[in-house]
Amino acid sequence: MDLWIQPCARCADLYGKSAAEPPHQDLTLNGAGAVKDARVEEHYTCVQCRAVFARILAGPPTRQIWMLLNAGQH
Ligand SMILES: [Zn+2]
Repeated sequence: MDLWIQPCARCADLYGKSAAEPPHQDLTLNGAGAVKDARVEEHYTCVQCRAVFARILAGPPTRQIWMLLNAGQH
């Protein structure tokens, strides 16, 4: 995985939003095996900027967000 990418506008926009939000059009769902438990989270990669997202689907509602795993911005 490429570390410390610069997220494109769509990724920057999605980052931190509720997991109820649909993935943007440049995100592709990573294949089976990429995630230990697909019921808990899904991983997506952006074809534009190579950002890797985790879409958290379980746990407290406040934790169910789009997390950017490899962005340089904190
Ligand atoms: Zn992107």
